Amino acid sequence: MNSSVIGFPRVGKLRELKFASEKYFKQEISTEELEQVAKGLREMHWNLQQAAGISHIPSNDFSYYDNVLDLTVLLNALPENYRQLGLSERDTYFAAARGYQGVAGDAKALAMKKWFNTNYHYLVPELSDNTEIKLVGDKPFVEYEEAKAIGVLTKPVLIGGFTFLKLAKYKGSKTINDFADQVADAYIAILDRFNEQGVEWVQFDEPSLVTDLTQEDVALFTALYEKVLAHKGNVKVLLQTYFGDIRDSYEEVVGLDFDGIGLDFIEGKQTVELLERYGFPADKTLFAGVLNGKNIWKSDYKKVITLVNGLKKHSNDIVISTSCSLLHVPYTLENETSLPEEVSQYFAFAKERLQEIKELTELIGTSGSGYEEQAAYLANQKVFSADRVYEDKHVQASVASLTERDFVRNVPRQKRRAIQKEKLQLGLLPTTTIGSFPQTREVKQNRSKYRKGAISKAEYDENIKGFIKECIDLQEELGLDVLVHGESERNDMVEFFGENLAGYVFTEKAWVQSYGTRCVKPPIIFGDIRRENPITVFYSEYAQSLSDKPVKGMLTGPVTILNWSFPREDISLREMAFQIGLAIREEVLDLEEAGIKIIQIDEAALKEKLPIRREEWASEYLDWAIPAFRLCHSGVRPETQVHTHMCYSEFEEIVKDIDNMDADVISFEASRSKLTIIDALKANQFETEVGPGVYDIHSPRVPSVEEMVAVLKNALTKIDEENLWINPDCGLKTRGIKETRESLANLVAAAQIIKDAVSV
Ligand code: GLN
Ligand code: ZN
Repeated sequence: MNSSVIGFPRVGKLRELKFASEKYFKQEISTEELEQVAKGLREMHWNLQQAAGISHIPSNDFSYYDNVLDLTVLLNALPENYRQLGLSERDTYFAAARGYQGVAGDAKALAMKKWFNTNYHYLVPELSDNTEIKLVGDKPFVEYEEAKAIGVLTKPVLIGGFTFLKLAKYKGSKTINDFADQVADAYIAILDRFNEQGVEWVQFDEPSLVTDLTQEDVALFTALYEKVLAHKGNVKVLLQTYFGDIRDSYEEVVGLDFDGIGLDFIEGKQTVELLERYGFPADKTLFAGVLNGKNIWKSDYKKVITLVNGLKKHSNDIVISTSCSLLHVPYTLENETSLPEEVSQYFAFAKERLQEIKELTELIGTSGSGYEEQAAYLANQKVFSADRVYEDKHVQASVASLTERDFVRNVPRQKRRAIQKEKLQLGLLPTTTIGSFPQTREVKQNRSKYRKGAISKAEYDENIKGFIKECIDLQEELGLDVLVHGESERNDMVEFFGENLAGYVFTEKAWVQSYGTRCVKPPIIFGDIRRENPITVFYSEYAQSLSDKPVKGMLTGPVTILNWSFPREDISLREMAFQIGLAIREEVLDLEEAGIKIIQIDEAALKEKLPIRREEWASEYLDWAIPAFRLCHSGVRPETQVHTHMCYSEFEEIVKDIDNMDADVISFEASRSKLTIIDALKANQFETEVGPGVYDIHSPRVPSVEEMVAVLKNALTKIDEENLWINPDCGLKTRGIKETRESLANLVAAAQIIKDAVSV
């Protein structure tokens, strides 16, 4: 049995590429030194995969920043303004990735977008009318030779032309079809080069095939590949799909002259059904994505073997594969020294996944002749048959006994509003912030000292109280209406809650690339989630004691906590969301009990796991995600005002669902998207009070009073003054103190001008 890996993480076992790149950006190392690090990593990754006996080892899956950007460069599609800087090839690339400001000129970075349903972000190609797509680079060819030189024959991997065209932004009058021929020609040129090199297999990734496609899309795909495949020569072409099934194009795809088709059996809900309905061509290799490339749990060998054996009736040429690139999982479990064996035995990160592939190819190779007695199989099944630790019957029962009533506040929104207005006495157009205040060096040091055991919990908390006091004083001085405690006790809005919930486990070095040099370390939901102790009450209560103005209690919502963690695979996302929802609910009720009048439950990442296919939005996601949020706050008294916050304002299409969260107030990022969302709010008769961010906190720039007045005036043309809040567009933790003070002073001044204008 042969095996294939779609892609391997490239940042390195200990994020070597990140650190080398950052040094390079600071000009502490040379281009050659950076390239040496990169070369070393590529070699190591190829060797690892070869040692695991992988038959189809990827090359060109490496990237200094992003594979889509690599392709943009390879296809001569990098916008003119980056080239005009006259920088070296490497620096032009980084200028497009990160933006450039210096002696050579000024260029903003390309836009960044989430890569399908992952937390990886790619750089969006921009095609203008004078873009001429053609093969200009040689990265894939060079990397193939590089691997060959160390004795590894690889399968070069490129994002396919269709996905490239679908992801691109069209800046001029030309559209997708105008570029299709050029793209086809470029891929033909790529295949020519591979032919010259004697490459056996090439992999074209076409994840866009798992999205909702129109007939035109399918026609475009078909035309593109008819053309390209007519020139494939001796190179075998693998069409690789992932993140779902290809229900809209399966029939067309199997009719094309591909030599192999890679299908996702993990996330592709209908993949098996498609095979059953339409069959699989006998002259092609089926690359069966049966090992999860996105999650960190060991594969259940019994399930995988059964699945693969079941596929044998459709194809007698099967290669087992990861379901997507391993880019989305951490590098290795070997780095984790503090996870107990009873926990770590369940996990397989990228390197361990290779070992699984090795064992599975051997076991499936002997299928029918007693694989069930093999040591590797028995060891694997032992993990799955053992009782799972961290089980919590009480929590399970609580979720099971939830009824409709647990998801609704008993006083409807309009009535609550009157009660809250009366109670809070905020007046029109209240000003507030999103929660965090600048994380100064002192704030970070306090946490790291405590972590290292250099200070006691009491000292740590004393320091936090100091930060809270400073934060409250500053807000009083600025004249904000609704205050926050500043979040100096948290490094991260998810990890902080995870650390305070039973059922979570944490890794030390399990980093996953989010974009470029930025990596995240998602906590792992290991068992049933339960709140053991109050989490934020101490800080919020203290903060409130310092002011007569309301200080918001500040929590992260269940959907965001879930979406930024590695979830369990043995229970549903819905079940996990409800467990976390119950924990947050307890915290909400404790905050209320402690006298907190306004509670904000952030759902920054609510949209993140919205299914790729629209028909699944409700049934697979929103039908539990929105209730999970409501579960958190349905138990509060009508006078307690519930806020939420969302980071990306691109939620036009789910405005109704957002309203159904039944919060009293929502704040969101809007300044960069020019407040377009406001039209959607109006069109949908949005009921929740709103605080569209009046300035962009992602930039150190201090917004002027006038520009914020203008934003507010614009907002008031669409939003009733009774419903409008005034706030920045996100938390201030990444900003400096000075710019924060100035920006907020201007915000309050702008608010005053508007308030005066409105009240006359
Ligand atoms: N309350 C959080 C903060 O202000 C929200 C962060 C976010 O939306 N990402 O930092
Ligand atoms: Zn935000």
